[in-house]
Amino acid sequence: MNSKYDIIIVGGGAAGFFAAINIVENNPKTKVCILERGQEVLTKVRISGGGRCNVTHACFVPNDLVKFYPRGEKELRGPFHQFCSGDTIDWFEKHGVELKIEDDGRMFPVSNSSQTIIDCFLAATKKLGIDVLTGQSVQSIFKSEDYWKVETNHETFACKKIIMTTGSNPKIWEMLQNLGHSVVEPVPSLFTFNIKDARIKDLMGLSAVASVKVKNSKLEASGPLLITHWGMSGPGILRLSAWGARELADKKYQFAIVVNWLNDKTFEETATILRELKLEHSKKAVSKKSPFDLPNRLWESIVLASQIDAESKWADLTKNQLTNLTNQLTNADFQVNGKSTFKEEFVTAGGIDLKEINFKTMESKVLPSLYFAGEIVNIDAITGGFNFQNAWTSGFIVANSVLEN
Ligand SMILES: Cc1cc2nc3c(=O)[nH]c(=O)nc-3n(C[C@H](O)[C@H](O)[C@H](O)COP(=O)(O)OP(=O)(O)OC[C@H]3O[C@@H](n4cnc5c(N)ncnc54)[C@H](O)[C@@H]3O)c2cc1C
Repeated sequence: MNSKYDIIIVGGGAAGFFAAINIVENNPKTKVCILERGQEVLTKVRISGGGRCNVTHACFVPNDLVKFYPRGEKELRGPFHQFCSGDTIDWFEKHGVELKIEDDGRMFPVSNSSQTIIDCFLAATKKLGIDVLTGQSVQSIFKSEDYWKVETNHETFACKKIIMTTGSNPKIWEMLQNLGHSVVEPVPSLFTFNIKDARIKDLMGLSAVASVKVKNSKLEASGPLLITHWGMSGPGILRLSAWGARELADKKYQFAIVVNWLNDKTFEETATILRELKLEHSKKAVSKKSPFDLPNRLWESIVLASQIDAESKWADLTKNQLTNLTNQLTNADFQVNGKSTFKEEFVTAGGIDLKEINFKTMESKVLPSLYFAGEIVNIDAITGGFNFQNAWTSGFIVANSVLEN
């Protein structure tokens, strides 16, 4: 049995590396190893953010930052007061990686390459003497008196403390369930909506700031809505997919949405504007140019869907046609049939039940001296660098608390 290590970290991803490096930096005598089942480590970091790694988000107030987490909002409040996005920037800067802010608040390495983050982590583990053992798939763990036994496909280890950072791995969740933990059933989050509808056919690439409601639900969001080959995407849709991850899974991704292409304009306000346009632009063709902040091709499609022909002038519009147009602009029903991934990025909603974790230490309340960090717990966020921020924050807290206790 290999009992060389004080602390074993299971999972060589973002959370595992961040925890390992912080532990040994704080206490160089601690012997730490990372067990990774794959031949390569940090594979998700590599592909993240389209190969650029969206490390965090320029939102520096803990109480604002938590709002981006459909699961974990309440629990992350305390942890973010200990280690927030500003601390992430400082940490990486101290480790030789400068981050930059993009217009939408997402933060990336100045190099625009996720390899910079990987190189930083690999250099730090090497310098600190952290063993990174690949091809070691953990099969089981169990407590024997005051130490943990960790069995991989190759070897058995013994250690005092164990940190689980295996991300969304169903086998590990099952193993932890057998040891007494509860696992909130995993479902995908961050997806786009599949919609086949003549009104958006051939309009891929066009976008508008719109609000979207899921019918027979409280789910609603607004923001840029992007028409894609398969349906609809963009920040508003991703927000609905994240906040509605469980509800939409229950509906088997078959549901209706109502789009208001004018975002915050009501039916009545829009009807008034259209009546004024009828008077002011009586001789002009309705479909040619959008009087709203909408791409002209989308406007034309909305006009045609309102039973108005392409050549009609504003003066020709009947009361019914004006009502149709108002409805198509502010209350357009679309049927969603399925989902697609968003730029291959996805996270899993679900994981270790948050009630069973002490968020001051990230220690399990069920299995003392076992800790968690990263996506293994029932925390996830919308896209924008927030999922990694959860990995850094929980990795940092774990690193401090394993040394204290
Ligand atoms: C394509 C894509 C792009 C993304 N881009 C971003 C982004 O730009 N910004 C952002 O904030 N988030 C992004 N995310 C989400 C982000 O990658 C995850 O939230 C984050 O990687 C979670 O880190 P983690 O360390 O908890 O888990 P992971 O990164 O999943 O790491 C877990 C590790 O544990 C290993 N492991 C699992 N089981 C075992 C076992 N039994 N034994 C040993 N090892 C095991 C796995 O092989 C893996 O290496 C993206 C996700 C995807 C899929």
